[in-house]
Amino acid sequence: MKLGLYLHIPFCKKKCPYCDFFSVTQKPDEELYLKALTKEIKLSSDFLKKQFEANKVTIDTFYAGGGTPSLISPSFFEKIFEKLSKTFDFKPLELTLEANPESLTLEKARDYKYVGFNRLSLGVQTFQKRGLKFLGRIHSPKESFLAIDAAFKAGFKNISLDFIYGWKGEGLKTLKKDLDLAFSSGATHLSFYELTLYPETTFFKKHQKDLYFLDEKRVLKLFSFIRNYLLDKGFHQYEISNYARSGFECRHNLKYWKMEPYIGIGAGAVSRIGNYRFENIKNLEKYFEKLLKEEILPNRIIERLDNFELAKEYIFMGLRLVEGIEISKLRDLGYILKEEALSLLVKSGYLRLSEEKMALTEKGMSLHNQVVKFLWKNLERLR
Ligand code: SF4
Repeated sequence: MKLGLYLHIPFCKKKCPYCDFFSVTQKPDEELYLKALTKEIKLSSDFLKKQFEANKVTIDTFYAGGGTPSLISPSFFEKIFEKLSKTFDFKPLELTLEANPESLTLEKARDYKYVGFNRLSLGVQTFQKRGLKFLGRIHSPKESFLAIDAAFKAGFKNISLDFIYGWKGEGLKTLKKDLDLAFSSGATHLSFYELTLYPETTFFKKHQKDLYFLDEKRVLKLFSFIRNYLLDKGFHQYEISNYARSGFECRHNLKYWKMEPYIGIGAGAVSRIGNYRFENIKNLEKYFEKLLKEEILPNRIIERLDNFELAKEYIFMGLRLVEGIEISKLRDLGYILKEEALSLLVKSGYLRLSEEKMALTEKGMSLHNQVVKFLWKNLERLR
């Protein structure tokens, strides 16, 4: 069995007001986290053998995300890699570390590279002071430039920068400044995520009555601008929010969109294998308790998706990809999409359709959620 492996590092210096990822602001206790993860790796391997008869598990991608993985020392990851190599056939071609600009020094970048990482994903968000302030980030544009410089000097050849667009006060001129700087930085991969207000976040509470800056038309304009700019500069878009130089697409993240199996370790991490989905407890104390006292996996939710749910998820995830989805896969699950619905979407310019595949057009991508909901309503069982 081939799997991607995601490691969640749930520590941040400060909670960003828009963020809904699981993270805590306490200082990481690396030794304790390592102990728990070591146990989790062993229990996960036993579980895969027992539940999925996976006697040989090959890990072909590794991704340390968070949280803020760059708060953690390189030697911590070195020990994790050792443990993984002893437990699995650990041969990832891509090993990504998410890093925040304020916690990446040249020395650390060199050590991350030395222990085995070959891809860095830097959370720049924007190069504009105003934008960083609005987003509640703790780093400065200067720290982002220094971190990018450190990553290159350390020898990383595959560097991704993460941006958020749509923040209050950002117009096309400001966006172009970010794009110019992103392009000239030499990064091989760029992600541009639309600012989203998630319920339960401080941002949501603060801005729910003040949402004009998330106006759909405005955001669509920004989306098209980003897309046209980057395509023009030789990047190719492979997913709604993701652009890469040829050959630099993120192999690990592609697994999520293609619904390929991956395992997640660490507090709050999610795993998907076949039609199962697991989620680890989003509470650090309980996570430690389960692993170190009770010696059981800290899975809280175990879902078994039926074919209808899988077909829906395949449409949702697959249509984020520019290459789209294979119609035969829906048929294999026992479902088809109504012809009238598909022709309506094609006629209105939202969908591209061939015998084998269907994919969203630029117009369709900008309204991904609405198109997907419409398709879900028109999904019917094969007779
Ligand atoms: S640093 Fe990243 S993970 Fe941490 S709170 Fe901010 S956005 Fe969320």
